[in-house]
Amino acid sequence: MTSNWFINASYFAVALVFILGLKAMSSPVTARKGVIWAGFAMVAATVVTFFMPGLHNTGLMVLAIVLGGGVAWWSGKVVKMTDMPQMVAIYNGMGGGAAAGIAAVELVRGVQHDPMTSTLLVLGAIIGSVAFSGSCIAFAKLQGLMDKAIRLPQQNNINFFLSLLTFGVGLTIGYSDAPSMFEITLFFLLALALGVVLVIPIGGADMPVVISLLNAFTGLAVGFKGFVLGNPALIVAGIVVGASGMLLTQLMAKAMNRPIKNIIFSPITGEAAAEGGEVQGTMRELSALDAASLMRYGQKVIVIPGYGMAVAGAQHKVWEMAQLLEEGGVEVVFAIHPVAGRMPGHMNVLLAEAGVPYDKIFDLEEINADFPQADVALVIGANDVVNPVARTDKSSPIYGMPILNADMAQNVIVVKRGRGAGYSGIENALFYKDNCRMLYGSAQAVIGDVIAQIKTLEA
Ligand code: NDP
Repeated sequence: MTSNWFINASYFAVALVFILGLKAMSSPVTARKGVIWAGFAMVAATVVTFFMPGLHNTGLMVLAIVLGGGVAWWSGKVVKMTDMPQMVAIYNGMGGGAAAGIAAVELVRGVQHDPMTSTLLVLGAIIGSVAFSGSCIAFAKLQGLMDKAIRLPQQNNINFFLSLLTFGVGLTIGYSDAPSMFEITLFFLLALALGVVLVIPIGGADMPVVISLLNAFTGLAVGFKGFVLGNPALIVAGIVVGASGMLLTQLMAKAMNRPIKNIIFSPITGEAAAEGGEVQGTMRELSALDAASLMRYGQKVIVIPGYGMAVAGAQHKVWEMAQLLEEGGVEVVFAIHPVAGRMPGHMNVLLAEAGVPYDKIFDLEEINADFPQADVALVIGANDVVNPVARTDKSSPIYGMPILNADMAQNVIVVKRGRGAGYSGIENALFYKDNCRMLYGSAQAVIGDVIAQIKTLEA
């Protein structure tokens, strides 16, 4: 009795810290603190679980924690910042897989549950399996291990019938007295296949939304498992992750002007991207000296960082350049698109790491009206997030996605290595505009050259 009271009170405290941690994560100023609080809460929840009466297999649990914790610690230390999205995808998948694994154990044990619990058990198993296999596919795509988008013939019909079949088999075994090993295996294979077929056609610009959606799925699956096992910490953690993942999914889908159902059922595939068509015209180059002069003798420069800045690790050089321009009296601000880079907040994290103050960083809605007053929009390794076809070309697969209005600046300078397309594979009309010039090269080296040239210019 005493130990139950202690465990439940601890879980309650842990749940509160999870929520406070999540709240702190909503601002870049307090985000680090939030992550640490939530981490401590997770350790506390794990330790407290060992005080549960009648616990078995504690040796195996410790072994699993040491192995899993060791791998996570090591990979967290060695992973490059640009590979973070893949890591998030695979960790998310592990959460879904763990929830599905718990469901599998419950089904194999054949414990009889009331109808409500059986339903949650089956739903948790399906959602957890989909989150696991879907996240593995997302990982493989982001890691470049598989094609960005593979669309099966009759894709939507396959999705529909596979979902029906999986739910049908799931509910049959959920309500059956003693499901056979064959039925349970078939059920999990179907659920895993569902995750694969749902995610393989999704590519292009939709990937961030899918990762966030799978994250919400994992949260839901964990929450359902919490109900099945009667574990309040799992319920609260699962619901918090599920709800915040769902909100993030909606916010991102809104930011890209893509309804969630379109993302899943009418994804932008490689073919659709190619249909975006060739853009007519030529791309014109400028030198590092010309770029330096345009910015040094201007009054306002808006920097738009993208995935290429992350790959090149150019954020420190970019901030050094911005400070140099500011010393010369030029106003320099940073414009961040909600899906720039390869994960939500990717650019904010990199700029914060380089020491850029938060009051110099603006979101799309805050800055878009300022572009016409900017002497230079400096696009560094960004592509899709500044592609004006999203505004103008109804036939483009990214039509309707809000973009940063770089093309409206007096001058646009684009730093990239060559003619490489953006993540969605669509040609960028901005690069062919009269006010746009290309500064070719890898971002870190190019910005280094620009810094050297600014230093040679007269005040
Ligand atoms: P993009 O992926 O559209 O474009 C990046 C550009 O960077 C490329 O055109 C590439 O051109 C250039 N580049 C690559 N390496 C370098 C380098 N070393 N130096 C300079 N430039 C380089 O990036 P954006 O940030 O504009 O857009 C993000 C895209 O990723 C969106 O489509 C978004 O939907 C998607 N996405 C976003 C996620 C998120 O959560 N933020 C997650 C997954 C996908 P070149 O090869 O010629 O150098």
